[in-house]
Amino acid sequence: VSKPLAIALDLGGTQARAALINRAGEILARKSENTKAQDSGDVVLAQLANLAQIVAVGHDWQTIAGVGLSSPGPVDTTTGTAFQLATIPGLNGLPMQNILEQSLSLPVRVENDGTAAAIGEWRFGAGRGHDHLVYVTVSTGIGGGVICDGSPLRGRRGLAAEVGHLRLVPNGEVCGCGIKGCFEAYASGTALAKRARKRMNNTALDTEMIFAAAKNGDAAANTLIDEEAAFLGQGFATLLHLYSPDLIIMGGGVSAQFERLHQGMVRELNANAMPAFQNTPIVKAALGGHSGLIGAASLIFDLR
Ligand SMILES: [Zn+2]
Repeated sequence: VSKPLAIALDLGGTQARAALINRAGEILARKSENTKAQDSGDVVLAQLANLAQIVAVGHDWQTIAGVGLSSPGPVDTTTGTAFQLATIPGLNGLPMQNILEQSLSLPVRVENDGTAAAIGEWRFGAGRGHDHLVYVTVSTGIGGGVICDGSPLRGRRGLAAEVGHLRLVPNGEVCGCGIKGCFEAYASGTALAKRARKRMNNTALDTEMIFAAAKNGDAAANTLIDEEAAFLGQGFATLLHLYSPDLIIMGGGVSAQFERLHQGMVRELNANAMPAFQNTPIVKAALGGHSGLIGAASLIFDLR
């Protein structure tokens, strides 16, 4: 008899979240805390183990199939080892999977957060029924994951599909990763806010304020948003050429403005994609902020 529940952990640079999830993808319990990001890795992993235990309170441990951890990348998902986490440096080099398996006495699987969210949308969200999809999260950075031929694309050490770091502009803006001209350096919410602050000479601007001003008819704000949509469409066109998905699913904080961006993204995508790839749908993520948690649980339910 297959065990009905999984614990999902979503480790972010600011928030550490846990959920108890059933095989229908329903969240039965949730808990989040600020990540102890500046502490040692052992402290962070103890925090995750504690969150896992809290969401399982009231349930027999024997009914839990395992623990899926959605981790910022790059992370070696073949061994469950973090090796380059900028936001939680204490974890670098630690075998997260082994340590959590020992403290929780359950099977643990680690996945890059972008791929975990792609899996969540594929299994239970906007990508249900599709064998090929690209998920892109647009927030402070840009991440994502690819489902190809009916399975998650992982590549060497599980590092595949770092979609935020495809080259959009040769010799362009320096990205958070240190390389110049990445998609993330142009189309993330951070990049949009940075352009707005510079152009409108207002250091207090954030993405929400830009969209609000645009809605009120501010021409400069509307231009900034049209440019944002264009950068997104250009990046998506490259992803179409690489992965030929049935659809592109957009999540992350900026996707709250999906309706405002959609037309511009489609126009630019079609202007930059070869005819065979044009008119591939761009849709909004269906699971909101829970794509990663639900995907992390799916990792456990999909274990053979
Ligand atoms: Zn980059």
